[in-house]
Amino acid sequence: MKQSKVLIIGSGFGGLSAAIELRKIGVEDFVILERRSFMGGTWCQNTYPGAQVDVQSPLYSLSSELYDWSEIFAPQAELKAYTEHIIEKHGLRAKTILEANVTRADWDDEQKQWIVRTESKGEFRGQYLINASGPLSTPVIPAFEGRESFQGAQFHTNDWDHGYDYKGKRVAVIGSGASGAQVIPAIAEDVAELHVFQRTPHWVMPRPDYHFNKLERAVLRNKLVHRLLRIIIYWILESRVIAFKYSKALMNAFAKSRALMLLRWQVKDPALRAKLTPDYTIGCKRIILSNRLYPALCRDNVTLHADGEGIRRITPTGIETLDGTHVDLDLIVYATGFNPTEGITSCPVIGRNGAMLAKFWERYPRAYMGTMMPGFPNFFVITGPNTGIGHTSAIFIIESQMRYIMKCIRETQKRGMHAVEVLDQAEDRYTTMIHSEMERTVWKAGGCKSWYQSEDGHVIAMFPGFSFTFRRLTGRFKPDHHAFA
Ligand SMILES: Cc1cc2nc3c(=O)[nH]c(=O)nc-3n(C[C@H](O)[C@H](O)[C@H](O)COP(=O)(O)OP(=O)(O)OC[C@H]3O[C@@H](n4cnc5c(N)ncnc54)[C@H](O)[C@@H]3O)c2cc1C
Repeated sequence: MKQSKVLIIGSGFGGLSAAIELRKIGVEDFVILERRSFMGGTWCQNTYPGAQVDVQSPLYSLSSELYDWSEIFAPQAELKAYTEHIIEKHGLRAKTILEANVTRADWDDEQKQWIVRTESKGEFRGQYLINASGPLSTPVIPAFEGRESFQGAQFHTNDWDHGYDYKGKRVAVIGSGASGAQVIPAIAEDVAELHVFQRTPHWVMPRPDYHFNKLERAVLRNKLVHRLLRIIIYWILESRVIAFKYSKALMNAFAKSRALMLLRWQVKDPALRAKLTPDYTIGCKRIILSNRLYPALCRDNVTLHADGEGIRRITPTGIETLDGTHVDLDLIVYATGFNPTEGITSCPVIGRNGAMLAKFWERYPRAYMGTMMPGFPNFFVITGPNTGIGHTSAIFIIESQMRYIMKCIRETQKRGMHAVEVLDQAEDRYTTMIHSEMERTVWKAGGCKSWYQSEDGHVIAMFPGFSFTFRRLTGRFKPDHHAFA
């Protein structure tokens, strides 16, 4: 049994940011538990062709770790290099145990600490537990009939098999959301046939790609200039919330009209255009930014299967569609996303008096500041319920959560206490406020079913407002909302 003051689950930006912030408040006694054989999370794991961030990189980065980006939307390899730069700079490899898949966490109320079990690295004890397991970290493949019978290659975008040469092959991409939209144009030219299976069309908007030249990069190495660019990007993106939350008219004027213009300009075939036109309010599902997706879908070797041409079953040699056609295939790529509801914590968590987190979240996941739940002392969830943000950088939100977490830990220490826990009423008031603010948003009222919603229709992924509001809320620690023991 290993003992630390803080245990961190996961080594993506959430876990790395937690480690850096803990050091800032003088906590060196922490350990990061990572289930994979490498550190880094999202951008070290998602190596599929075309993987790229869709939030401008000067903003999609830790505020203390500005970087020499080569383009405004960094590709995966550069994001991986950035992640590794942070790991090295802060000496976080030495603080991490790899292949430590956490399978269960239990609160020991007598000792005031968490007992964390791993699959093969034994047990760990820690006073505080920070769960940074990433809501988009565990891939999901729907249970298609006959999937195991397929004799070709098949993998999820999250687990791209680089040993498989897709060039010249007959390939299916199932799913046309954020990852699918990046893979499709990246491989379309190189494959013999590409069959795209689309459940619902997404709104697509042009992406303002931009490569920095040598001079611009040199100028951006100046921290003040870089910060200024970051601030400008932040406020431009932030202004979008007005449309997401308050104005369908603005959404139509600025977003929908541009998206329709792109569709009309890039897709000349009316039948294909009809298949690609969504029937829900733009913004209800994540908007795809791409200049290359529609041209790829218009290629002669690419077929879009939509509506009645969906998947009936997978056969040993391909996919049988609902209209009875059989598509012969060598490779099936699942761009079918993640389960963000189950992924908020990736193992059972048992709090005070045997409280099960899964039970507390039975109806829908909920948390004070998207971070803490009553009954679970000293336990913090990064990118927890209602912390998602469609319009800006997830890292901004992660860093906001850190302010709250570090304040919880500091306040507990200052009082000479061992445990902090949010009160029932405080969590309830916060969650009620979140869902009442949510009513008017496009995610709730936009007429779509998305992964932002729980089974019972609560929007559990998104924060219903400006990201600076979330930062302000998390920055003002309210001792009377908490119990100390
Ligand atoms: C393909 C893709 C594209 C994205 N693009 C954007 C974007 O453009 N803009 C944006 O803002 N966000 C984007 N995101 C969201 C992105 O996940 C966040 O921006 C951010 O990287 C989340 O960091 P994290 O540390 O919370 O999670 P992750 O980076 O997912 O890290 C979680 C880590 O926890 C580990 N882990 C999980 N469970 C366990 C366990 N039981 N035991 C031990 N370790 C465990 C995982 O192996 C992983 O390394 C994207 C996500 C994906 C998947």
